[in-house]
Amino acid sequence: MGLQNLPSVDEVLKDARIREIERTCARDLVVQAVRTELGVLRTEIMNTGREWSREHARDRVVMKAIRRLDTLQGGSLRRVINATGVVLHTNLGRAPLSPETANYIARLAQGYTNLEMDLEAGKRGSRYQHLESMLLSLTGAEAALVVNNNAAAVMLVLNTLAKGREVIVSRGQLVEIGGSFRIPEIMALSGARLIEVGTTNKTYLSDFEQAVSGDTALLLAVHTSNYRIVGFTHEIALHELVSLGRRLELPVVQDLGSGSLIDLSPWGLEAEPTVQECLRSGVDLVTFSGDKLLGGPQAGIIVGKKHLIEAMKRNHLLRALRVDKMTIAGLEATLGGYINGSPQDSIPVLRMLTRGRTELKALADRLAELIRDEVDNGSEPPKIKVMEINDKVGGGAYPLQELPGYGVEIEFGFDPGQLVHQLRILEPALLPRIKEGAIIISVRTLQSGEAELIPGLLRHGLEAFS
Ligand SMILES: *Cc1c(COP(=O)(O)O)cnc(C)c1O
Repeated sequence: MGLQNLPSVDEVLKDARIREIERTCARDLVVQAVRTELGVLRTEIMNTGREWSREHARDRVVMKAIRRLDTLQGGSLRRVINATGVVLHTNLGRAPLSPETANYIARLAQGYTNLEMDLEAGKRGSRYQHLESMLLSLTGAEAALVVNNNAAAVMLVLNTLAKGREVIVSRGQLVEIGGSFRIPEIMALSGARLIEVGTTNKTYLSDFEQAVSGDTALLLAVHTSNYRIVGFTHEIALHELVSLGRRLELPVVQDLGSGSLIDLSPWGLEAEPTVQECLRSGVDLVTFSGDKLLGGPQAGIIVGKKHLIEAMKRNHLLRALRVDKMTIAGLEATLGGYINGSPQDSIPVLRMLTRGRTELKALADRLAELIRDEVDNGSEPPKIKVMEINDKVGGGAYPLQELPGYGVEIEFGFDPGQLVHQLRILEPALLPRIKEGAIIISVRTLQSGEAELIPGLLRHGLEAFS
């Protein structure tokens, strides 16, 4: 059934292109890739019964093995130009770091550091010391702890304070973030028992009061980061939950999700409680992400009461959730931006969220010119125009907020689906917004120097299938 034309492993290994790649790749990996691709083709032939000529079959195995090895050698992470206007795009790695932060990480990553050494005393230190004084100064908390991400932070809090006991949460706050973080699942994994109270749209303090038992370990408030319940609703104010916690001597924990350290309302974003405000309202612990509105590397930050943070530091689970030196370096540099007093200039996420309309319009005008110069030829040139658009915060923050921005719309005489695919596989990849018959490049999320790359990428993309 056509298998007689399947080349042997040795035959493929003799191919000049395979021998070329063998100069820069371990031989056993080359052999492995060839075997895998031969196997793939064998299965395909058996399933489809399609006839392959010997040369054609060998060619196909060679090419696919080379592609496999290229990915293996170069990794599969690619730079992506985010032209979607979604600032915190979880699929695109959330917060981009500033060049200063990236350089700081690179400098510390290239050598040894005092990660776990107290240089003053010449003794063993703790990796958790490094960020603590910065976080305490910025938030006013008694103590702080940094783990791998906010999911880990919530997990550590629940496992330390509520394992085998009950945690009360409002039904309106049982959030799911991006499919993989769900309060009920995290609760189950932590060993705590979830006690849901109230209804989807209304929860009162009396619901919490009635649910409290001798087994209650803590009261949890979860920020409904990525949705809003509107209409006939009632949710408990944080200070009310805090009073109840005080009265019953139960800790109150707020999972803030995308916790911000600055009030973004002067830039037209809805007022949302900052980390400092939550702590001031008397909450015992606040957890938030490092790579959402804070604008740093992936991390989970826990701030609050010292005795609770100390208990978490003694929990062996922390060992499995610990951050490495690059994360600590990235957070140090990011928090440094807040300490210097102008985070909206030094932290890319905040820069993008606070960019003024005049600046965005000017950038869109310039980009439109650059694109016209590059692709405005041929018999049917695309229609290029600058337009007002609405951007998004993203990353499960400010779900209803629209950020007025500018984009360059490029309208073709054809469906842009195939072009959009071509743009995604270029290096760097370009990810625009798609509209019927057109693509839109939002300029808000472009990083320095990226506008200049876009015209060339568009031309390559167009050439690839025209
Ligand atoms: C984003 C979010 C999380 C998960 O945080 P990660 O840092 O992605 O692990 C948890 N809770 C809330 C409310 C969130 O918004």
